[in-house]
Amino acid sequence: MHNSDLMDKIVSLCKRRGFIFQSSEIYGGLANAWDYGPFGAELKRNLKNCWWKSNVSERDDMVGLDAAILMHPNTWKASGHAENFTDLLVDDKKTKKRFRVDHLSPEEQAKIGTQYTEPREFNLMLKTRLGAVEDTSSDVFLRPETAQGIFVNFKNILDSTSRRLPFGIAQIGKSFRNEITAGNFVFRMREFEQMEIEYFTTAEDSDACYEEWINRRFNWYTEHGIRKENLKLRKHDDDELAHYAKGCTDVEYQFPFGWSELEGIANRTDYDLKQHAELSGKDLRYHNKITNERFYPYVIEPSGGVDRAALAFLVDAYHEEEVDGRSRVVLKLHKDLAPTKVAVLPLLKKNADIVSMAQSIKTDLQKSLTCVYDDSAAIGKLYRRQDEVGTFFCVTVDVESLDDKQVTVRDRDTMGQQRVPVENLKRYIQDQLS
Ligand code: ATP
Repeated sequence: MHNSDLMDKIVSLCKRRGFIFQSSEIYGGLANAWDYGPFGAELKRNLKNCWWKSNVSERDDMVGLDAAILMHPNTWKASGHAENFTDLLVDDKKTKKRFRVDHLSPEEQAKIGTQYTEPREFNLMLKTRLGAVEDTSSDVFLRPETAQGIFVNFKNILDSTSRRLPFGIAQIGKSFRNEITAGNFVFRMREFEQMEIEYFTTAEDSDACYEEWINRRFNWYTEHGIRKENLKLRKHDDDELAHYAKGCTDVEYQFPFGWSELEGIANRTDYDLKQHAELSGKDLRYHNKITNERFYPYVIEPSGGVDRAALAFLVDAYHEEEVDGRSRVVLKLHKDLAPTKVAVLPLLKKNADIVSMAQSIKTDLQKSLTCVYDDSAAIGKLYRRQDEVGTFFCVTVDVESLDDKQVTVRDRDTMGQQRVPVENLKRYIQDQLS
């Protein structure tokens, strides 16, 4: 399949089946803003839960945080965003289209000054105003990353949890950037969600820790279903690195529009804590109570986007297959990510006993699994519909079920069908999903 066709198919599936809609579509939409529909909301929630489980709940050295989106304006002075969070942009003089200089090929960059205008800097932070007084002191920014919420709370977390190095703080939340060259569906948005970790360690251990996080984050994507051949690591060249960073590696995914960043893992040294200590006047050093040393830890930052990950998982899961001469579209999402685990389908919707049995099965299953109930079409169509949204199992209740108290369970990927006694159904499904 041609790559642009694949992207069109994903966008169309997302709209048709309720994964992702254009924001405020009835008013003509708002460029580069997207809303997650019923299946998209479940997918995103599952994705964030999987990330939290692997990075916080299952680890002894991590804690979570949920900081506010609005922060003191000095945060952005200390972090450097107020001054340096800019994109260099050029305009094509003929088409008036705007491009990021770092997204132009070397041949295109050579045309700066002729085909393209001279580069200009654009700050990506979105400004808003707080309070009733019209003066500049009430200007605040919508955070362009969640990471700074972690740094400004470093001392609070040390004081309230008595953590020892090495340890990390994880956070998931909305970030905002006035991206000029937004596009490619949910890959680049102005309002998006990030999943970020700041992992604090000593300067001596920071190189090994950086390598560990690169591997861990790469593996997280493959463990959740992304094919290895569609992922690669890209180490930043020295001239790409921020002046304070010791290293940065991106996990890239082969999107239909090309290899692009899914997540970045950086060794940010002790820069951020030092900056905040200097501007706030607070001592943010770590105190090693055994050696009585006080120092600024180094930090390793794995920083990924929820929306980019959702898009990568959707693209990777999308399959078109030929079954009995007909084409089947199936989203082979990892079991933990699939928006719906079970669809309960009554074979005859006019048979009150079948409907009642199907509904009671759903009521029982939905206490522990995400389920849907659908009786709005013939069974073949219902199966196809569930395949398209990645539902793991279809449970069909038919006339025989009323006698033998068994139902047909159909597996999404193999399409194999099995009769399972209703009393064992929940256990059967849970075993397959565990
Ligand atoms: P890019 O070079 O693509 O603009 P970046 O290097 O600026 O990305 P980071 O600042 O490292 O991105 O942000 C960390 C992660 O947050 C990215 O890897 C990506 O997954 C996500 N992210 C960043 N900007 C956006 C955006 N505009 N829309 C969606 N996700 C984003």
